[in-house]
Amino acid sequence: MTIKELRDKFISGTSTPIEAYEAARRVISEKDAEVHAYLEVYDDAVTAATDATKAYERGDFVDKPLLGVPIAIKNNILIKGKKVTGGSKILENYMASYDATIIERLEAAGALIVGSTNLDEFAMGSSTENSAFGPTKNPLDLTRVPGGSSGGSAAAVAMCSVPAAIGTDTGGSIRQPASYCGLVGMKPTYGAISRYGLMAMGSSLDQAGTLTNSVADAEVLFGVMAGRDPRDMTTIGPDTYPEVSVKETYKIGVPRDFLKSGIDEDVMQVFEEKLTELRAAGHEIVDIELPLFEAGLASYYIVMPAEVSSNLARYDGIRYGVRQEGRDLLETYLNSRADGFGREAKRRILLGTYVLSSGYFDAYYGKAEAVRAKMRAELGEVFKNVDLVVTPTAPTPAFKIGEKEEPLSMYRQDIFTVPVNLTGVPAISIPMGKVDREGSMLPVGIQFIAPHAGERRLFDIGKRVHDAG
Ligand code: GLN
Repeated sequence: MTIKELRDKFISGTSTPIEAYEAARRVISEKDAEVHAYLEVYDDAVTAATDATKAYERGDFVDKPLLGVPIAIKNNILIKGKKVTGGSKILENYMASYDATIIERLEAAGALIVGSTNLDEFAMGSSTENSAFGPTKNPLDLTRVPGGSSGGSAAAVAMCSVPAAIGTDTGGSIRQPASYCGLVGMKPTYGAISRYGLMAMGSSLDQAGTLTNSVADAEVLFGVMAGRDPRDMTTIGPDTYPEVSVKETYKIGVPRDFLKSGIDEDVMQVFEEKLTELRAAGHEIVDIELPLFEAGLASYYIVMPAEVSSNLARYDGIRYGVRQEGRDLLETYLNSRADGFGREAKRRILLGTYVLSSGYFDAYYGKAEAVRAKMRAELGEVFKNVDLVVTPTAPTPAFKIGEKEEPLSMYRQDIFTVPVNLTGVPAISIPMGKVDREGSMLPVGIQFIAPHAGERRLFDIGKRVHDAG
C-alpha cells in the first residue's frame, strides 16, 4: 500500500493507525525472522498509534500529512532514547541522546516510527551483508541480497511491513536497494535534507532519502523532511533553490559510452524498452557524453574512504559504544577499534588514511577532488542542453548472498550511482521492468538524474512514468 492510500483510509475511517500498526507488527512477526530487515521493533509506537487514531476521530489531521503512517528508519539515524548502532559492533550498546532533525520533522508530521532497519556497517556496502548483526535477505528472493547499504529499509518496504522507509545514500545506498527490491528510491540534492543526527560516513556525499512504493509518496516525505536546518550549515532552503522548471515533455540525455561498462545484457534491453516508452510519451531522447563519469568509481573510492577514515576516528571506545580495556589509553583505543570494526570498515579506514597521508595526499586525494570538480562542470554543461539524464540504476539485478566476496566486484555495483553523489545533484530510481535469473523474475530500476535542486522535475517525470502507469 502507498502512504496516500493508507492516509485516505484513515481519513474515510475504513482503517485506523492502530490497525495499521498492528498489521505492521503482524507482517514483521511473520516474515522478519527470515528476512531480517529490522534490528529493533518499537513497542512504544502503540501509544502514538492510539493517539493518532483518536486524532482522526476528532478530525484533527489536516496539518499532519503522515499522521499514523508506519515508517521504518535506517539504524544510522539518531532517535532519542533508542539503540542506534550503525550496524556496527562498536556501537552495539549505544543509545542516542538526541533526535536527528529528520526524526523531529517526521514525528511532527505524525509519522509512526515502528522500528529501525539493518544496514551495512556505517553504511559501507552494496548488499547489507556487512552488518555486524547478520545479513538482510531480499524479500522477493530469499537467496539474494536486498542491495545496500539501506537494505533493511528496502526489505522492510518490499515485504510490505511499512509503506515507506528512510535510508541514507552516500554512493547509491538508497537507489541501488530500491532497484533490487522493486521500489522507488530517492536521493535528494546534497544539502536538501539536514544531516544533523545522521551518522557521518562521507560528509560531503551523505544524504538522507526515501524508499517507497510510489513517487508521490517520495514527494510527500521529501516535503516533510527537506529545508534549512540551523544545526546543519550545508542545508539549503527554498530561497536558495534555483527554479528548476517542470515541463510538458523533457529532453533526456543518455550517456551511451558510459553505459558500455559491464551492464548485463537483459538489463540493458529493459532499459532500451523504457527509453522507447519515454519517446512514445513525447519526450526527446538524445545521446550525451559524460566522459569523466567513467572516473566516478575511482574518485569515489578515494574521496569516500578519506572522509570515512576521519569520521570513524570518533569511535575510540572512550566517547561512544563498546570499550575493550587495555593496559593504557593507546591500547584501549587499539583494542576497541580492532574488536569493534568489521572488515569493510577497517579496509576503508586504512585506504582513507593512506590517501590522506602527507606523502600521498597530492597523488590521490587531491587528484580525486580535482576530478570531482571537473565532473561537476561537465554535468553542468550537459544540463545546459538536456533536462534530465538517465541510466540504469545498477548494472545487474539482485545478486546471490555471498556472491560478491571480492570487494571490487561489489564496488562495481555503484558505477552509475556514485557520480550523482560526487556532483551533489538529485536522482531517483524507479522500477523499469524485470529480468529472469534462475527462474526468479527480479526487478531492475532506471535512474533519472536532475540538475542541482531539481527534485520537482524528478517527481514530475517519476509520477508520469511510474505512478500513472
Ligand atoms: N555501496 C556504496 C559504498 O559501499 C555506497 C554506500 C552508501 O551509499 N552509503 O560505499
